This record gives sequence, structure tokens and C-alpha cells, in this order.
Amino acid sequence: MNAFHQSTPTNDLCISNCQAVLPDRILANACIYIDRGQIVFVGGEPQARHAGNTLDAHGNFVVPGYIDLHVHGGAGHDFMDGTAEAVRGVLQAHASHGTTTIFPTTTTGSQTQILEMIAACQAVMGNEELLPKVAGVHLYGPYFAPDKVGCHSPAGCRPPSFDEYRQYFETGLVRIATCAAELDNCQDFYSMARQHRCLITCGHSNASYTEMKAAFEAGVRHVDHFWCAMSSVPSVRSRLGVPMQGSMAEFVLMERAMSTEVIADGYHLAPELLEFAFCMLGPERLCLVTDCNRALDMPPGNYRFGNDYDGSFFQSDGQVGWALAVEGQPASLASSVVGMDHMVRHMFHSTSASLPEVIRMATLTPAERTGIQHLTGSLEVGKQADLLILNQDLRVEKVYIAGKECAR
Ligand SMILES: [Zn+2]
Ligand SMILES: [Zn+2]
Repeated sequence: MNAFHQSTPTNDLCISNCQAVLPDRILANACIYIDRGQIVFVGGEPQARHAGNTLDAHGNFVVPGYIDLHVHGGAGHDFMDGTAEAVRGVLQAHASHGTTTIFPTTTTGSQTQILEMIAACQAVMGNEELLPKVAGVHLYGPYFAPDKVGCHSPAGCRPPSFDEYRQYFETGLVRIATCAAELDNCQDFYSMARQHRCLITCGHSNASYTEMKAAFEAGVRHVDHFWCAMSSVPSVRSRLGVPMQGSMAEFVLMERAMSTEVIADGYHLAPELLEFAFCMLGPERLCLVTDCNRALDMPPGNYRFGNDYDGSFFQSDGQVGWALAVEGQPASLASSVVGMDHMVRHMFHSTSASLPEVIRMATLTPAERTGIQHLTGSLEVGKQADLLILNQDLRVEKVYIAGKECAR
């Protein structure tokens, strides 16, 4: 053996005495070795290695870092504020809740505002030292159906126009693309999204089963926040009459190549709906998302959804967002104000899903749906060392992004 070969491999960090949560099981008394930002060993027996730092996890869980497909803001910032400072502020806030990969999500802003938001994300991408990695932008608003616009500013909602969305896709940063399946020209939008290898999704939509089928043939594979701002048999009936037709819900449940996501904050969906979604779809077709707005880690009060100068106002009570009351109408929700750590705990405590299944829904499943599963999303040798230490209550104790611990 010459001087250029080491007798044993090196590692930067060894996490010992942990319960490693793998996609299909929990490995007890496990050791995880990290070297130059990558996972190089996961196993039950410590290996002979030149130890760098060693961390005794005292039997706590190690899970992959969370991946959020659908998130608007946090710590007082919305991605639509359109500045690098806002983007960094949101990333920092979500890191402390366990998110290590994020898809900043647009809302119904003007074309200029959306381009500014994408540019702000671009300014941060590649320089996210100790921040969650921006894996691409989720072009979510503005192509919503006018009768399913929800808490977003209705003035900014519009059908897709080629000259507009071409500019978003040409940035090369859009990785998830949403458009309601009943809008004029949605097929052309899906076709361009497909050329750019996006996860294509339908949301804020009152589409019928037939419209979903056509959208699926054009490349749609996912539906945003199941049950929220989406069609049902009665809503399609009020739009298209009788005979009653299937809706987005039936299409997602029937078509095995479709996935979806739930907002498991405890306020949007009752436990039986979370259990139903899990039992019908399983952990490989269901993702957890936060759909979190700027009120994360902020005191109760009124905030803007979307950008900070003309976004619509909502109220946070510290638990969830509420659309400001319109006289004569029941109060409606305006997205969540909590992080992915909360979603994981609530899903685990409210459903029959095992811990590996719940963690999969917040990690490997969103990674697979967006094509980044070779980089991150599970505790596997060769992947980036994005991982969390969770205590027995599933609270985040430590966050590592590419092997480096984030200050919290
Ligand atoms: Zn929404
Ligand atoms: Zn949203």
C-alpha cells in the first residue's frame, strides 16, 4: 500500500446509535457515515473507518431531509415578494422545520411579478450554503379556473397564454407546472411543460373526469392539494349538468400513474380524509406538502398572500390561514402556517401509516415525482447527506444539508 492509498476510508461525520428510517423499515442501532457531503454507509455495525466527528444519536430517529413540492413562504416572506432576501428568508425558516429541498411556488401575480420571483430564486440557486436546496420553481398560479381560485387574488388568475408561459419555461428553472385542465389552451401548456420535463399538475380546477383524461394524455401526472380547490362530483354537476360525471378525485383514485398531495396540518382535512387518501393511494402516490404561507413562525395577524404590495390579505390565527370574511359566506381557509415537521407528526398520529410510510410521503415520493430521487430523498449510499435527527416525538433536533449542520 503506497502513500496515496489510505488503509481505511475517511468520513466527515459518523452518526451512531440511531434508528435509521429507511423507505421500507426502521434499522435499529444503526450507524450512518457521511463523507464530503454524501452518505457513504448506512448499516447496523460500525465500520472500520477513520472517524471524523462522531455523534451519538442516543436512539433517536434519523430520517432523510424533507422535500416540499408546494410552499409559498415563511418568516414574513413570500417567494412572490420577488427578492433574493425574501427567498433566503423563506428557505431559512423552512430549514428549521426539517425541509432540505424546496420548490418555491408562484401564485396569481402579474407576468412581471412571476418573472421577478423566478429571477430571485435563480439568484439564490447554487449559493444555498446551509439552506434548503432550491430544486426548481413550481409554476402554480396564475392558470387557475376562475370558480376555484380560492384565497388567491382573483384579478391575477387567467387562462394560459403561450407568449407568457414560454418566458417562464425558457428560464429553465420551472420543474413543476400547474394548469387547470378545463382552461382554453391547457393542452399547449402541458405540451411545453412536458418538453421541459416538468412534473405536470392540475390544481385550482373544476375539471371533469373527461377533461382530466385528456389532460393525463397530454402529460398531467399530479393534482395539487387533494380536496382543496378541486372538483367533486357535485361541483362538476353544477358546471356541466347531468348525467353526473366523475371529477378530479375519481380520476386520481382510478389512474395508478397519478399522484397527489395533502395538507396534513389538522385544519384543512379531518383525520378520516387523511386516512382515506393514504389507504386509497398508498405512500408511493401521496405526498405531504406544507402549502405554507408567509405567516410561518410569525405572530397571529393579517398578512398578504402572494407579493407584499398587492397580494390579497388573509388572517393567521397562529394555527392556519383564513381568507378574510366575505359577508354572507362561510369562512374559508387560506393555506397553512406550519412546516413539514408538523405535517409529518400529524399524519403519523392521525392515520394508520407507519413511520417509514409517513417519512416516504415527505421525502422519497416527492423526489421520485420530480425526478431527483437519485440525488436525495432517502438514506442511501451515494445520495446527498440531507438528513434530520428527530426525537421520539418526531420533533426536529438537528438538520444536515449535504452533510453540514444547519444552525437553528
Ligand atoms: Zn392552492
Ligand atoms: Zn398553494
